[in-house]
Amino acid sequence: MDKPSHISVILDLSPSQWHLSSLPENPHPLSLRSFLSQLLAFLNLHIASKHENTLAVFGAFPSKSVMLYSSTDPEADNTENVNPNMYHPFQVVDSRVVTRIEEELESLDQSEEEAPIGLVGALTKALCYINRIIHPSASQSSGTTSEDPTTLPDPRILVLSVSPDLSTSYIPIMNSIFSAQKLKVVIDVCKVYGPDTVFLEQAAHLTGGSYIYLDRRDALLQHLIMSHMPSPALRKLMTVPTQDKIDFRAACFCHKNIVDIGFVCSVCLSIFCAPVPVCSTCRTKFPIKTLQRLNASRPPGLKPANGALKTAPSTPHTRGPSTPR
Ligand SMILES: [Zn+2]
Ligand SMILES: [Zn+2]
Repeated sequence: MDKPSHISVILDLSPSQWHLSSLPENPHPLSLRSFLSQLLAFLNLHIASKHENTLAVFGAFPSKSVMLYSSTDPEADNTENVNPNMYHPFQVVDSRVVTRIEEELESLDQSEEEAPIGLVGALTKALCYINRIIHPSASQSSGTTSEDPTTLPDPRILVLSVSPDLSTSYIPIMNSIFSAQKLKVVIDVCKVYGPDTVFLEQAAHLTGGSYIYLDRRDALLQHLIMSHMPSPALRKLMTVPTQDKIDFRAACFCHKNIVDIGFVCSVCLSIFCAPVPVCSTCRTKFPIKTLQRLNASRPPGLKPANGALKTAPSTPHTRGPSTPR
């Protein structure tokens, strides 16, 4: 219970989505500036609540991801203007995060601003970082230091998302979820703006985290503190809000579309939107009888127009968690 806690925060910093979020037509407009001031209060609260708590902040910018701050990075301590009226670690986090975000956003070209954000990159960087801090002896060359599990932090990832799902990132996101499960990392998601994201809902559900859709965006800080502040160990005693419905749909491997009914390769569990004669992942060939049977059983709107069997694999797959490789 008394273990230190680590949070890797992933910020979705898509300029176009943040612009839409700040428009006055929204019921509760939220600008990036106001978001950051509430986020920094949350980060300060995390580092103040226990001396050993650690923090890393990753930014998902259009088509790239950057580590903005890490409390184990010695460079982070070199701030020139020390404010004597402010707790030093707060000042370091605040100035580093804000300066790095400004630098990255200013370096973006007009043409790059619309590109999808590098969420997968940020997620994998966060997982690698956590892997390093929870296995300190593996990263040291001697490899003899014994790991004391009581001093190692309890890790989790918090994703603050404003962008919609990118269906091409289904497979890498699912693979990140499996890595997180192996590392026992909880993924919390706070959907700050935009429609629910299917993949992040699944990430939170499969890792035991909480997914919050922010209805009252003027209460961001309150939501962050109530839902994402308690560490996974504390959540056994304190109930945090979780989602009541989860969209388990998967994206097909062939077109990266999110499908209601998919067809799963019985050998490698790849998902296809239509029955295919040969699995594109593992090259397994399926019997023509199976293809005919599966095509005959498909809902009328989905059957191939000319009746030709172009496509097909084995088990129909409906709204269940999947295991891509
Ligand atoms: Zn497809
Ligand atoms: Zn296969």
